[in-house]
Amino acid sequence: MTHAALPHHRCPTSSICIPPRRICDLRIGFRILQFVVCVSCCWSGRSGAVLAQEPWADSRQLGPFVCQATFPLVEYDRLFAELPELQRELTRTLGLPAAHRPIHIYLFSDAQQHQQYVAEHFPKVPYRRALYIKASGNEGVFAYRQAELDVDLRHECTHALLHAVLPDVPLWLDEGLAEYFEMPPGQRAFDHPHFEALRWNMRLGMVRTIETLEERGELADMNGFDYRYSWAWVHFMLHGPEAAHQVLVEYLADLRLPVATGPLSARLAAAVPNASERFVRHFKHWQH
Ligand SMILES: [Zn+2]
Repeated sequence: MTHAALPHHRCPTSSICIPPRRICDLRIGFRILQFVVCVSCCWSGRSGAVLAQEPWADSRQLGPFVCQATFPLVEYDRLFAELPELQRELTRTLGLPAAHRPIHIYLFSDAQQHQQYVAEHFPKVPYRRALYIKASGNEGVFAYRQAELDVDLRHECTHALLHAVLPDVPLWLDEGLAEYFEMPPGQRAFDHPHFEALRWNMRLGMVRTIETLEERGELADMNGFDYRYSWAWVHFMLHGPEAAHQVLVEYLADLRLPVATGPLSARLAAAVPNASERFVRHFKHWQH
């Protein structure tokens, strides 16, 4: 997904980046001409019908989420009951409207089944453990049953909910928000696994600025350090100075308008003087 004002495009064929804890996701920018050609060759006339023909064994519908699975979902009923909270939190903390279309989730019983499905229906997509795919004629979250499925679903569904109401989201911000909301609600503010590594990074004086993150145009450009600092800047804007939170909310609102938004970093610099220093102080003193 690429904002019209950004010079770089994300390309599924070059997406090799793997976050440190797990394999992440992939989004296909259907508005990019080369992808329209590429993706519609793969999916032409097939998407909806093929999905309907899969041997779905169970399904759930909760809030905006419509899930189909090739295995019984009863063991995940608690997860599905909690998933609509994600929509409410995005609305509450970011000021975004609720998704106005269903978010389709397709779950497979194991990695092999998932991989086969992705290879057959999305042959141009590099394989990942969990995927959010958006392209003309088809959109959905594709994942499989494994120990961290709940984290994967919250992460990918955050992407899906954002893209349901925003024409595009800068890559670093898209990933930073998905990383933040992938944890259960009670662990987001204080107990995200990123905290420990971030504090080590900061002890060594390592900081990634938003300006640098904004240069990441493709997932292949994003390494684990970039994911961690994308998450950290989102945390700073959600839990740091009120002015920073206001910048984030207004920026996301402007992304819905058909105008060039400019970089978020410039707005943050104007609203929060010495943002990088305050960012470091924010994490130095952040605790329960
Ligand atoms: Zn992601």
